[in-house]
Amino acid sequence: MPVDALAKTTPKSEHATELWFDVGVNLTSGQFSTDYDLQIANAMNAGVTHLCITGTNERESSLAADMAATYPNLYSTAGVHPHDAKDVSGQYLSHLESLYLTNPKVKAIGECGLDFNRNYSPQDVQFQIFAEQLELAARLKAPVFLHQRDAHSTFVDLLKAKRSDLTQVVVHCFTGTQNELDDYLDLDCYIGITGWVCDERRGLDVLALVDRIPDNRLLIETDAPYLLPRNLKPKPKKGRNLPMYLPHIGQQLASQKNVSVSKLAEYTFQNSLRFFNIKAQGNG
Ligand SMILES: [Zn+2]
Repeated sequence: MPVDALAKTTPKSEHATELWFDVGVNLTSGQFSTDYDLQIANAMNAGVTHLCITGTNERESSLAADMAATYPNLYSTAGVHPHDAKDVSGQYLSHLESLYLTNPKVKAIGECGLDFNRNYSPQDVQFQIFAEQLELAARLKAPVFLHQRDAHSTFVDLLKAKRSDLTQVVVHCFTGTQNELDDYLDLDCYIGITGWVCDERRGLDVLALVDRIPDNRLLIETDAPYLLPRNLKPKPKKGRNLPMYLPHIGQQLASQKNVSVSKLAEYTFQNSLRFFNIKAQGNG
């Protein structure tokens, strides 16, 4: 279905005058297989005009690149998530490299990192696949999109060792402690904040930390279909998070930081363009 036709069918949201950039959305997830085009249109109509689709393994990174090529202002990353580290092919690094080099809308290497919470892949394998992707990003001078869960000390030690070789770095879906945040800021990382901060049971500690993030290092993301903001009203029936909910996360952050929603939208949008090396006016 053409995006323009769809966009006209959905009412404008109250924040449609601001422009938003969702830096992390998992549109290749099976949860979007039947309606990703509708959700892209709804996001655009809600002012979320720019999206970056997260690539989490070789297959989905290829799919994400194809999807990004089809729509204006859609971008993607190419990487292997720590959950998928044990399943890489022998050619995965050259596959990621060629996705990045041959598709102008593939803008970063990742998502990659360490996840010692789930341990779907053995920790030593996660470490090796993470280190190899950091080396690839360094060689390509590509931004990197990082994931860390319950692995901070191992993660930050490796990142420290590699940091001077890397360009832009984002630690996406940050849900850690003040010390962890300070470590990342010391390494001049961007910080990706999700709807986790809209969760009154477990997100308020992270919400309180956002004041420590310099305005020029804050990125926002839905991580859809995961992490539905808990305080959305009315509560969506399906429990599925959507990129059109990004302005809601922006509102929560703006009120915490005591800035206007439009100002927060403006600087997170500019940060996203700078992070991904996207020229302000281009649709390319
Ligand atoms: Zn992640």
